[in-house]
Amino acid sequence: MSRYWSDVVQGLTPYVPGEQPKLANLVKLNTNENPYGPSPRVLAAIAAETSDNLRLYPDPNADRLKAAIAAYHQIDASQVFVGNGSDEVLAHAFMALLRHPAPLLFPDISYSFYPVYCGLYGIEAVTVPLDAQFGICVDDYIGRANGGIIFPNPNAPTGRLLPLGDIERLLQANSGSVVVVDEAYVDFGGESAIGLINRYPNLLVVQTLSKSRSLAGLRVGFAAGHRDLIEALERVKNSFNSYPLDRLAIAGAVAAFEDEAYFRDCRARVIASRETLLQGLQQLGFDVLPSAANFVFARHPQRDAAELARRLRERSIIVRHFSLPRIDQFLRITVGTDEQCAALTSALTEIL
Ligand code: PMP
Repeated sequence: MSRYWSDVVQGLTPYVPGEQPKLANLVKLNTNENPYGPSPRVLAAIAAETSDNLRLYPDPNADRLKAAIAAYHQIDASQVFVGNGSDEVLAHAFMALLRHPAPLLFPDISYSFYPVYCGLYGIEAVTVPLDAQFGICVDDYIGRANGGIIFPNPNAPTGRLLPLGDIERLLQANSGSVVVVDEAYVDFGGESAIGLINRYPNLLVVQTLSKSRSLAGLRVGFAAGHRDLIEALERVKNSFNSYPLDRLAIAGAVAAFEDEAYFRDCRARVIASRETLLQGLQQLGFDVLPSAANFVFARHPQRDAAELARRLRERSIIVRHFSLPRIDQFLRITVGTDEQCAALTSALTEIL
């Protein structure tokens, strides 16, 4: 720690991103990336933008991208905010909409960036335990004083999905603060809450192109919600960085929304591999939670998760394990290609 650091920085506990090792021939199933590359149309759009326009500043409002997202989700472009990955969109939402004297509610367990943003912005966090099946129970949030509610749907790292009807019940009972639904993984098995934004002015839905559209490296995320909420996010953005998305990100993201066939095909392949992986793990004796995401959450009743992760790593297969209370025996395994999933299950067969 340096004496030049501000008090705020001295008190921060930053998020530690998942490992990005550079080993060749690695089966990398630790950070929920898509095993398939982005659409060829995305690559062509980025190449064209690279050769023609990098000299110029990007559009600070990313209007083309907002129009593409709005058309895809059948909403108005004024209901869309875009940012440099959904992490940045979430950070702005914490600052603009969730920073109130009353505490912010979110599940325990959930995305580990939420407490980090609370630390950064001085927001009091109150966590709400998951139910016995590791699901979110909306009744546990209803009637509690709060300055906002946030949860991923499907939840991370469990992969469990909250039905849209439950989200609507929560919105009806909780009109006094903003409810943020973080849909990073929704395309792999959930129904988006974006269809509800015209009915609930306190609903903000956040999505990313990192997972289902294979663009984690491009850093594009967005939020959909009532114009008032979007305006608050724009105010924070324009007080921070007027050009959050560069020209390549805008061009690539627009092209991603234009290639619906590629998106559907890629998603279907991941979902099919997930089911095969899930069954393979069950046959090896794992308890696996039902997953609506591109990862599975599994524990073996007789084997230590940290030890399993270590032994997989010796075989060049990288997964996540958790050392938190209640979930310390779980592995979180990203759904890879069929070949990668088969490599994982055969390595586990040897280890067990
Ligand atoms: N929300 C959740 C629940 C996530 O797991 C992630 C990925 N780590 C994100 C948001 C952020 O994704 P990105 O910044 O790549 O859009």
